[in-house]
Amino acid sequence: MAKAVGIDLGTTNSVIAIMEGGSPVVLENAEGERTTPSVVAFKGNEQLVGRVARRQAVLNAEGTVFEIKRFIGRRWDEVQEEVKRAPYKVVQGPDGGVRVDIAGKLYTPEEVSAMILRKLVDDASKKLGEKITKAVITVPAYFNNSQREATTNAGKIAGLDVLRIINEPTAAALAYGLDKKGDETVLVFDLGGGTFDVTVLEIGDGVFKVLSTAGDTRLGGSDMDQAIVTWLADEFKKESGGVDLRADRQALQRMIEAAEKAKMELSNLTETTISLPFIGLDPVSKTPLYLEKKLTRAKFEELIQPLLKRVRQPVEQALKDANLSAAQIQEVLLVGGATRVPAVQQIVKEVLGKEPNRTVNPDEVVALGAAVQAGVLTGSVEDVVLLDVTPLSLGVETKGSVSTVLIPRNTTVPTRRSETFTTADNNQPSVEIHVLQGERPMAGDNKSLGRFKLDGIPPMMAGMPQIEVTFDIDANGILHATAKEKSTGKEASITIQNTTTLSEQEIDRMVKEAEANAEADRKRRESADLKNSLDTARIQAERVMSEKQSTPEAKSRLEATIAKAHSLVNSDSSDAELRSATEELVSALQAYEQGVSASTTGGTGNSGQGGTGKPEDVIDADFKPAD
Ligand code: ADP
Ligand code: MG
Repeated sequence: MAKAVGIDLGTTNSVIAIMEGGSPVVLENAEGERTTPSVVAFKGNEQLVGRVARRQAVLNAEGTVFEIKRFIGRRWDEVQEEVKRAPYKVVQGPDGGVRVDIAGKLYTPEEVSAMILRKLVDDASKKLGEKITKAVITVPAYFNNSQREATTNAGKIAGLDVLRIINEPTAAALAYGLDKKGDETVLVFDLGGGTFDVTVLEIGDGVFKVLSTAGDTRLGGSDMDQAIVTWLADEFKKESGGVDLRADRQALQRMIEAAEKAKMELSNLTETTISLPFIGLDPVSKTPLYLEKKLTRAKFEELIQPLLKRVRQPVEQALKDANLSAAQIQEVLLVGGATRVPAVQQIVKEVLGKEPNRTVNPDEVVALGAAVQAGVLTGSVEDVVLLDVTPLSLGVETKGSVSTVLIPRNTTVPTRRSETFTTADNNQPSVEIHVLQGERPMAGDNKSLGRFKLDGIPPMMAGMPQIEVTFDIDANGILHATAKEKSTGKEASITIQNTTTLSEQEIDRMVKEAEANAEADRKRRESADLKNSLDTARIQAERVMSEKQSTPEAKSRLEATIAKAHSLVNSDSSDAELRSATEELVSALQAYEQGVSASTTGGTGNSGQGGTGKPEDVIDADFKPAD
């Protein structure tokens, strides 16, 4: 079977890994880095992904998209907080979903995520010398149905066959427990850039059984950054007599970056200084404003108190749902960059009463586990069984807007449950089944996953029809629902068609667009390479000319080709023009070299030196012209 990779598509950073000789290994990206920032930048019709995108964020705040994972699979009315915080423009889509607006062109979060996936997979394919088409992608355990489906669709748009969606903490446990003998009860504490998951598992003899999971899909390290930004901006506003730096997208982006840097420094130091020169202009004097603030670890911990409080509850909930006391947890695995914050580690110690295990790499372990699962699904890893659970209860809306649960949270998946319902009115011809996800008793407080209708119910008194509703959760944690009227056997079913879930046609269109884009990217790169080759040849020719003299005819011919190369490199030239100009230049250079011995004047410079050998050497010279 073909090779398959594991991908940790993180809010902040993404990692790709593969099984190699029985162990999972991380695949470096083209820049040689093991993690890739989940950032996409749009510049003209070019897209940049990763470190290069992140590096230009301040100068291109509106065209740089990060933390897209906070939007994926969510409706517009669920993300108002996030919209306010983003330095790039987020708008409501025609379907009530979310779109990123880049200079008037709208992108779905799925498409932006697909760009990140494509970069990871393309780089990894190059590294492996083999095209990757299959992947296991991880999601926070606490992701709901729409978020899981949207992530699957992002994979499809990136041209991937998504073998499985698995939960990040479960993946971490899989990597950790792969070579473990004997039984262990483990708690995975995963606090990343934007999400928080707690999962309790039992590991033994290759069986990974999740007992419970809890979390918060909107809590992470960037909320800490945000707390610092709010403090900085408020202080600055006071001190500057009313200048609100948050109103300026570029200033906001600079504050976010400075806040993150300060937060990270405070993991090792007890004090740091945030310094942002030329952050704005004084409205009265029009002189530049400076922001300089000292931040101590104590002050930082005070600023993030409300966030730290929110860390405690899911841990307690997960223990309770697993029916375990803290003392029964044998190992605590810390996953995610934000677990480096000392105050977070302190809370873990307080709640669980033990030092966390330090053997796993918090940045890489999730992708490694996803690679293990990819190995399991493609047959290269044997004797590993993964039993995960559904994080949230699933039910239907019943009379009085009540949410009636069919599958309670923390049920092992895959699973299938049926329950029989009936009608509320006499001769009711149809019922609408409203599928809900969440723990609240009233329908309106839970997440609506979608509605579907079963009609053609024969005339009967209220309470007589027997309507069997069946929920199927597959191994990806995605729900399929059916309803059947028992007397006629008539059925209706859906794979949840949420308003924010893309339709097959939309996915198809996006796949094509992404492919076209990849093709355009490839062409642009090819053109750039051709220009590079031509320019390299030109530089070589100029050097040879300055070092050696040739016949006047050879000289003027070479000069003409150099001039042409110059103008082609600096304009919009076709690939054919570039190719033929390179050929002309090389042959003119050959002629020039041949004329050197014929020339009577001899060399002016170091005629014996300079690699003036075969034309291939000139073309392949491995330096690039300065730009
Ligand atoms: P995700 O899984 O969401 O992509 P990561 O696990 O990569 O996230 O964690 C990213 C978060 O961890 C960011 O908010 C980053 O600022 C934070 N982080 C990384 N290193 C440190 C550190 N040394 N101290 C504090 N926070 C850190
Ligand atoms: Mg993560």
